[in-house]
Amino acid sequence: MASKQKTFSGGCLCRHIRFEASGKPSFPHLCSCRMCQTWSGAPTVAWVEFPLEGFAWTGPGGEPSTFQSSEKTQRGFCAKCGSSICALDDGYDKVSLTIAVFDEPSLLVPGKQHGYKAAAPSWWKAEINRTAGKS
Ligand SMILES: [Zn+2]
Ligand SMILES: [Zn+2]
Repeated sequence: MASKQKTFSGGCLCRHIRFEASGKPSFPHLCSCRMCQTWSGAPTVAWVEFPLEGFAWTGPGGEPSTFQSSEKTQRGFCAKCGSSICALDDGYDKVSLTIAVFDEPSLLVPGKQHGYKAAAPSWWKAEINRTAGKS
């Protein structure tokens, strides 16, 4: 088992920023905090973490541009098209990526964790189909 690790790929709207992640995905979850909302323009952001080891920026733009959204966190985006791509915490050995920018977002199913659920707009209810992505 686990002899062949899948490589996940994704990137921004204009394809200037692309990435490949070959490590094991962890902590897929949702977050509806006001920072995620205003950064992404979406009511809820789906996140997943990958180890930095085995992760590479592969597009013509190299690494995304960053905005320091809190003391230890940089949020990465494409300077050309504005796609919200990742978050990097100082000293952390993983990168958080928005699930929606993956080429196959269906393969990364958020778990039970929904941070700041109460901050989501009242008209919005994020529901996860837990039987998806389990092929
Ligand atoms: Zn772009
Ligand atoms: Zn958040």
